[in-house]
Amino acid sequence: MANRIPRVPVREQDPKVRATNFEEVCYGYNKEEAMLEASRCLNCRNPRCVTACPVGLQIPRFIAEVAAGNIAGAAAVIAEDSSLPAVCGRVCPQETQCEGSCVLGVKGEPVAIGKLERFVADYSREPAGSSPLETSGCAGPLPSDDGSLPLTMPRVARFPEGTASQASRKKVAVIGSGPAGLACASDLAKWGYDVTIFEALHKAGGVLEYGIPEFRLPKEKVLRHEVDAVRALGVKIETNVIIGRTITIDALMDQEGFEAVFIGTGAGLPKFMNIPGENLCGVFSANEFLTRNNLMKAWREDYLTPIHPGKKVCVVGGGNVAMDAARTALRLGADVHIVYRRTEAELPARREEVHHAIEEGIIFDMLTNPVEVFGDEKGWVKALRCIRMELGEPDASGRRRPVPIPGSEFEIPTETVIMALGTSPNPLISKTTKGLDTNRWGCLVADEAGATTRPGVFAGGDAVTGAATVILAMGAGRTAAKAIDEYLKAK
Ligand SMILES: Cc1cc2nc3c(=O)[nH]c(=O)nc-3n(C[C@H](O)[C@H](O)[C@H](O)COP(=O)(O)OP(=O)(O)OC[C@H]3O[C@@H](n4cnc5c(N)ncnc54)[C@H](O)[C@@H]3O)c2cc1C
Ligand code: SF4
Repeated sequence: MANRIPRVPVREQDPKVRATNFEEVCYGYNKEEAMLEASRCLNCRNPRCVTACPVGLQIPRFIAEVAAGNIAGAAAVIAEDSSLPAVCGRVCPQETQCEGSCVLGVKGEPVAIGKLERFVADYSREPAGSSPLETSGCAGPLPSDDGSLPLTMPRVARFPEGTASQASRKKVAVIGSGPAGLACASDLAKWGYDVTIFEALHKAGGVLEYGIPEFRLPKEKVLRHEVDAVRALGVKIETNVIIGRTITIDALMDQEGFEAVFIGTGAGLPKFMNIPGENLCGVFSANEFLTRNNLMKAWREDYLTPIHPGKKVCVVGGGNVAMDAARTALRLGADVHIVYRRTEAELPARREEVHHAIEEGIIFDMLTNPVEVFGDEKGWVKALRCIRMELGEPDASGRRRPVPIPGSEFEIPTETVIMALGTSPNPLISKTTKGLDTNRWGCLVADEAGATTRPGVFAGGDAVTGAATVILAMGAGRTAAKAIDEYLKAK
């Protein structure tokens, strides 16, 4: 029986080797492995995996195409719902979404939906036999001089029935080029709208570009390709434009002829602990540390923007951001401790990232909370003073609350402290746009369809929910695209 086949393992770089380089950790499936894994799917009549996917990817349909060896067909099915399959296949928390709901997971191992999605996207970019990596499934073609890559992913028809025709192309502005903005822009462009994305940074992709490291999400090979595929739908991307500074939303709508706006500006404002010593040299927010490494290429010797975290680094937090900062610091040559106030069971990071971090030699100090950062006479970090914690009664989130154990303070000698405690939306847009309400966490107020309190202005992704996930941001972008379409048709 198909479901008696064990889940097909995926090949990865050796942990000792990868701890010293920024190349991708996971090699992905080759075609034979993917077809074998796809044959495990039961093609359920009421597929729970689809219900659990925030963009409603038609999972059994694409998996059936993989099982039949029709990878182009699988890519076409995925393209109906997702503009970023190679990204989502790599970074989605599948264990709490599609794979977490897969019926095979009840008694055994769920279908490796994420790895199959990634395979389809990678294979479509690099058709069979075009590279020696037909056996490893991981490499892509070399980018051309301008960084662009050939586009082989099948695209959904540009002007489907019942949508805006090319003749009536109305202008829509999308602010932010993260997954929410890219997903919203893709759908609107497919329906015939004239879409421009405005991005504050010099590269498009949002957190996918500046936050998630190269060893988890290769930039030129994977991300650039998917951003270029959005451009290929006709979406214009203007980088180095900070909405609220370079130009306001009011000016876009009143002077530049944009009839609707989607705000997908994410949650890039880091939180700190407000403990003594946080202003010392050597204390970073994870956002700054990762941006300097990813966007400013601090890890590459041919760039003039290095970071020197020293030999000992403490990262405070337990989410994906903490894992990424810790594994980046490790690759820059440091011994790294993750300091987390709960236990391993409560770590919010993707299970695969925690597993990889442990394999690579990151030291986890659980039930530990910082109380002060100590510095030397020159103002540089020299130690992190912490207190041991125990778990008490559940708090509002349902998780057991960590409680300090009196008298248990101790010090961890360290040269760098990286705070990975979460982020909130930057207030620039809400402060410079009339009629745009925010809630008490600084998130934009929007209804289920993404409509904000300002007519014609929609929002989604981390800017509305606070820090969440790539796929939720994409789902919100697509929902808002539908609402924008309805709004503009009714206008
Ligand atoms: C280090 C890190 C690791 C993560 N790992 C994962 C993971 O493994 N899996 C997962 O699902 N999620 C992960 N996440 C979360 C995920 O990346 C986010 O939830 C997602 O990117 C949010 O998408 P978004 O489009 O709402 O915003 P973002 O991706 O933040 O994009 C917003 C964009 O808007 C731009 N912008 C902001 N203000 C302006 C302005 N005024 N004018 C113009 N442009 C502006 C920003 O520069 C940015 O490019 C991670 C996050 C981080 C930081
Ligand atoms: S729930 Fe699992 S077995 Fe059923 S269709 Fe989805 S992936 Fe296949």
